[in-house]
Amino acid sequence: MTTQGRARFIIDPHSKPAFTRFSRLHEDRARVRFVILAPERAYEIDAISLAVLRLIDGDTTVTAIAARLAAQFSAPLDVVTRDVTTLLQGLADKCLLRDGPDAFAPPPLSSRARAYGSFAGGPAGLLAELTHRCPLQCPYCSNPLELERANVELSAAEWGETFRSAAAIGALQLHLSGGEPTLRRDLEEILQHAVDAGLYTNLVTSAVMLTRERLETLAEIGLDHVQVSIQDVDPATADRVSAYEGGVAKKRDVASWTRELGLGLTINAPIHRQNIDHLPEIIDFAVEVGAQRLEVAHIQYYAWAEKNRAALIPTREKFLESASVVDAAKARLKGVLNFDFVIHDHYATRPKTCTGGWGRSIIAVTPSGKALPCHAAQTLPGLAFDNVRDRDLGDIWRNGSAFNAFRGTDWMKEPCRSCDRREIDLGGCRCQAMAVTGDPAATDPACHLSPEHARFAGLAEVEAHAPPPTFIYRRIGGAVTRESTPESP
Ligand code: SF4
Ligand code: SF4
Repeated sequence: MTTQGRARFIIDPHSKPAFTRFSRLHEDRARVRFVILAPERAYEIDAISLAVLRLIDGDTTVTAIAARLAAQFSAPLDVVTRDVTTLLQGLADKCLLRDGPDAFAPPPLSSRARAYGSFAGGPAGLLAELTHRCPLQCPYCSNPLELERANVELSAAEWGETFRSAAAIGALQLHLSGGEPTLRRDLEEILQHAVDAGLYTNLVTSAVMLTRERLETLAEIGLDHVQVSIQDVDPATADRVSAYEGGVAKKRDVASWTRELGLGLTINAPIHRQNIDHLPEIIDFAVEVGAQRLEVAHIQYYAWAEKNRAALIPTREKFLESASVVDAAKARLKGVLNFDFVIHDHYATRPKTCTGGWGRSIIAVTPSGKALPCHAAQTLPGLAFDNVRDRDLGDIWRNGSAFNAFRGTDWMKEPCRSCDRREIDLGGCRCQAMAVTGDPAATDPACHLSPEHARFAGLAEVEAHAPPPTFIYRRIGGAVTRESTPESP
C-alpha cells in the first residue's frame, strides 16, 4: 500500500532485508538476552529469531536466508521460509527494516555492546533532562513549576558518569530531553558519552534551535533517533500554544533533515481541546515528513498542565472521536506509520501503569542531578531525592528512599490492596492520585473503583464544556498569563 509516496515494505522471497540506520541487534548483558533496539522500544528476541536476524544484511534474499537456516537446523524449507517471512514482516511493519543496501548501515553490534554484568531488575530507560531552559512556553509542559536554572546544571562529564552508571544497571534507552536539550552548547560531548556507554540515544526536541549542520554532527557521533514535539500543524494555533512564532516551518525542516540523515523520527503531538480538531492533519504531517512513529498523547494533568487544565481539557465526545481517528489511521497506515495513543485519564475506567511501575522501568534525572522514579515525582510531598553528584545511580536505584516509596504493592490502600489487577496497573499514577485526592498512596482517580472517580470525571465534563480560560505559560522564574483564544468549534 502506498501512502503519499511511502510504501509498506512487503517481504517476499526476493526481498533483501536489513536493519534501518536506527534499529539494531543489541546484547543486553544486564538481563542476559538479545534485543532489537528501536525508537522507544527494546524487542526481546529468542535464539531462532537471532539466527535469522544475524543473516540480514541488505544483500541476501529471503530465499537464501531460509535455505541456509533450513540446512543449519535440518528443518523443512517451506516451514522455515514461512517462519522467516512472518518474523521479518512483523519487523518491517514496525518500520525497522529496509529493502536492499543503502548509505545508512547501522553500527555493528560489537561497537556498541559493553561488558556490563548481569543486573536483574534494572531500569530500561534513562530520561536525562539536560536543561530546563526552553525558547517555547507550552502551557502543558511536563517540567516542574519550579524550573531549575542554568547555573545548577550537570556538566557533560557528570552526565557521562551518569550514563555509564545507568548502562551498568541495565538501561538501554537514553532520552536526551529538557526543556530544550539543543540549548546545551556541549550537547555533542554529552552525546559522545552516551554513545560510548552503549545507549540507544533519542533526542527529544522542539526542533526550533536545530540547524542542519548540527544535526549532521550529532548523526555522525551516533545519534539514533529524533523525537520532534509539535504543538499543532496550524501555524496560528501552534504559535499561540507555544508562545513562539514560526515553529511549524522549522519543525518540518528538521523532520526532513532527520529522515535524510537516516535517523529514526517520531512526531510527538500532545493533544488537547485547542488542537484536537486538527488531528487528521497532524497524522498527514507525520506521514509527509517521513516519521515512523506518531505519539498522539492526551495531556497528563500535573504541573503546568494541571494549572492549565480547564484551558486544555477536551470533551468526552472529542476524546472518543480522537480515538476513532487514530484507529482508522492505524489500519490505513499499517507498515508506514506506527502509533502510540495515550488515552485521556478523565474519560478512562482503568488507570495506566504509570511509567511502567514506580521504580521498575525508568529513572529521570533533572538538570541539577536529582534522580526521580518519574519525571513528575517532585509533585509528591515528603520524598527525598538523591543527587547523582552525591550517590551512585545504581545505589540510588536499589536503595534510594524515593525509589522504594511506592515500589511493588505493599504501600497500597483499599481498593487496590485487595484488587486482582494490582500487579497489572500497580494502582496507576501516584502524581495524579496526589493532585486529585491529596494522598499519594490513594487509588488513581482514573480508576472507576476509586471513590474520587465520579468527581474526577465530572469535573472534566464541566470544564471541557465551559469557555477556555487564558493560558498560564510555562516560564523560568514565574508563570505568565496571556490571552488564549477559544478553540475551534
Ligand atoms: S513542552 Fe514545550 S515548553 Fe516544555 S520543554 Fe517541551 S517545548 Fe519546551
Ligand atoms: S483498584 Fe487499584 S489495582 Fe484495582 S484496577 Fe483500580 S487502580 Fe488498579
